Parts: sequence; structure tokens; C-alpha cells
Amino acid sequence: MAEDRKPRKILLLGATGSIGRQTLDVLSQHPDDFIVTGISAGHNREGLEEIVKEHPTIQAVGLSTLDHDEEIDGVVWYGKDDQMARLAQTCDYDLMVNAVVGFRGLKPTLIAIEQNKDLALANKESLVCGGELVKKALAKSSTHLTPIDSEHSAIFQCLQGNDFQDVNRLIITASGGSLRDLGRDELMDITPKRALKHPSWNMGARITMDSSTMVNKGFEVIEAHYLFDLPYEKIDTVLHPQSIVHSMVEYKDHAIIAQLGSADMRLPIQYALFAPHRPVLQEDKPLDLTRTLTLDFKEMDFDRFPMLKTAIEAGKRKGNAGCIFNAADEKAVELFLNGKISYLQIEDAIVQALEAIDYIEDPSYEDLEATDHKTRQWVEKTFAFENGK
Ligand code: NDP
Ligand code: MG
Repeated sequence: MAEDRKPRKILLLGATGSIGRQTLDVLSQHPDDFIVTGISAGHNREGLEEIVKEHPTIQAVGLSTLDHDEEIDGVVWYGKDDQMARLAQTCDYDLMVNAVVGFRGLKPTLIAIEQNKDLALANKESLVCGGELVKKALAKSSTHLTPIDSEHSAIFQCLQGNDFQDVNRLIITASGGSLRDLGRDELMDITPKRALKHPSWNMGARITMDSSTMVNKGFEVIEAHYLFDLPYEKIDTVLHPQSIVHSMVEYKDHAIIAQLGSADMRLPIQYALFAPHRPVLQEDKPLDLTRTLTLDFKEMDFDRFPMLKTAIEAGKRKGNAGCIFNAADEKAVELFLNGKISYLQIEDAIVQALEAIDYIEDPSYEDLEATDHKTRQWVEKTFAFENGK
């Protein structure tokens, strides 16, 4: 792959997380194609120091919990909450891998696009909260945006070599998450430990929780709407407990093209970096079709998973609705994991926040930042304090 080309320079946000570490693993398999020049994390200084040791090409590091900027052995360390924005503005990079969790990923996404840098996007909150802003920024930019989320990577792969005009619909698969075998009447006393046990994927805590409530699938429908520029009516979801078919595209002749693989994020990460090329990838357990393989598909159960419908409605409302939804969910998940609210109160927090927080039709980035802040405070005040915790 390298031929005579220079290695591409990578800025990796969320380097210490689940996607961040798997990205570093993929990059280490292709040292002639990529070098890491910048990394960032929230609080994990040790994790960042280890990565700096392994990658002498790193020139800049961001760490939100650092009070003031530092320079250590020629490497600049940016501190405070604006560290990712400053990295995105000043670091020397060709491609940003945005693998940070939460609304905070939106600003660096917008800066990368404004600076015409390529972007491999795992941070789905960028599109859920700021899809319209991202769309507008992309229209004025030469940025090449590739998806990392496995479903969107699958769709991206299934679209290759076909005429986009011939797409009938996208079919996003959902494992059903950690609580999929329980009815709604069994969700009352769910503990964080139980909810965090995902049957097929090993991911960060927030997305594992969001898979159990189907909030994640709702986010993925919004994400697909913006990535592939298709109306919501052309984006379906289907339950597929084995997590082997990562998603599908149905064409007008009713051919359905699917992408299959093991539940390993390294493949979509690598594809986001190399598309349309497919160099060798070392995986722990590549999919073996000769093993007994069953593929089940069931109609989505919107009654069991009401948050899917609520998320799609928020996506259709546009404005700051996706941002309210995301902030309410993120805060409620945090409160649940800290034992302050019950599992089903996560849904209550989202539904009530969407009613309580002012709707803004055409929000600026600053409006979204204010919405995010206001929603979190509202959820904390209304739910944690009400429960007396
Ligand atoms: P993790 O929780 O594993 O990692 C999150 C990363 O974000 C860490 O590096 C963390 O740093 C950093 N971070 C957290 N808080 C802050 C902060 N205040 N400032 C700066 N950085 C911060 O998440 P995942 O890797 O699971 O997910 C990352 C993104 O990718 C999410 O948007 C998720 O929805 C998406 N995604 C994840 C998938 C997966 O398989 N995990 C699949 C598809 C999409 P620190 O370690 O210091 O806390
Ligand atoms: Mg996904």
C-alpha cells in the first residue's frame, strides 16, 4: 500500500478508549502508511504517556484534566476542555480519527472539516447533535469523511461499485443489547453490572448502555441519514442477535447486499482509513463460515424499545432536538451507573427533557453547546435530586 507515498499523519481523539486503542492496533499493523502526530484523552494521563512512548512521531497531546499547557521532551501537552479544539487547529495532521465519546466530539469534527482534513468518524454524537452543521460545513470543504461505526461501515462497503440512485433502502442490524431477552416488566430492577454485559461487542460503558435501551440504534439511524443523505423513510432497522451481518443495502431490483464479519471493530476502523483498499488485517477470530453459523433476523420491536422511535422523531425534528436527546441520555446513563436513578428512568429523562428544554429550529454551535449544558443540568436537578441522591 505504501508504494512511494509518504505516511499519512493521524490525529487520534479518544486515544485511550475502546475505539482509540483498536485504532492504534490497526495503525501499528501499517507503519509505512500512517504515523500518529497527535493524541487526546479525558483524564487518563498514564495511558497517553504510554502511547507517546510507543509513537515518537507524536508532537502534541491533549488532556482535559490538565490545568495548564506543558511541554515535555519536545511534546506539547494541551490542557482544559478546549484541548481537542486546539489540537484540531494546530496539530500537523492529514486525517483526524474522532473516537472521543459525547457531544464534545462535535467541535473538533467541525474544525477538521473547516480545515479540509480527512475525517474517520466514530463519534456519532457529532451527527446526532450537529448533523445539520456538519452537513453545511462538508458542503464547503474538501474533507473526505469515512464512517467507523460498524453498521455504517457495512453500508459504505455495500454501496461500493453500485449506483447510489438505485438504492431502495438501508437495513441497519441491531443485536438487541445486553437486556434483549427481558420483557419491559423485567427492567425495573436492572443493575449497572447487568446492563453492561453486552452479548457480542466489547465497547465503552456509554455505548453499551445505549445498546441496551436501543438509543444507540436510534443514533445510528440519524447517523445514517446524514452520512448517506437518505430520508428517514428509507432507513430500516432489524433485530439480528448474532451480530454477524453488520448491515445491508437493498437496491431497487430487491437485491440485498450485506457485509459479514466477526464482532471486531478493527475491520471498520481499517476500512475507514484505507477505503476502497483492503490490506491484510490481523484479527483475533476472523469469521469462519464453516463453523455452524445461524443468521436470525426479526422485525424490530418498537414497543419493547420505545427509545428507537423517540430518537428517530428527534432526528426528524432537527434543530436542537438531537442535542437534547443526546445530553439527556448521557446524563441519565451517568446517573444510572452511579446508582442515582433506576434503569427505566433513563427513558423518562429523555422523553421529559425533550418536552422541557426549549426547541431551537436553526441552532448555531453555541446554541447547541448551551442546549447540551442546560439539558444535563435539568436532568440532574429533576431526577437525581428528586430521588434525594
Ligand atoms: P470509551 O469510553 O471507551 O472511550 C472514550 C474516549 O473519550 C477515551 O479516550 C476518553 O478518555 C475520552 N474522553 C472521555 N471524556 C473526555 C473528555 N471530557 N475530554 C476529552 N476526552 C474524553 O468510548 P468508545 O471508544 O466506546 O466510543 C467512542 C466513540 O465511538 C463514541 O462516540 C461511540 O458511540 C463510538 N463508537 C464506539 C464503538 C465501540 O465499539 N466502542 C462502536 C461504534 C461507535 P479517558 O480514557 O481519559 O476517559
Ligand atoms: Mg454501531
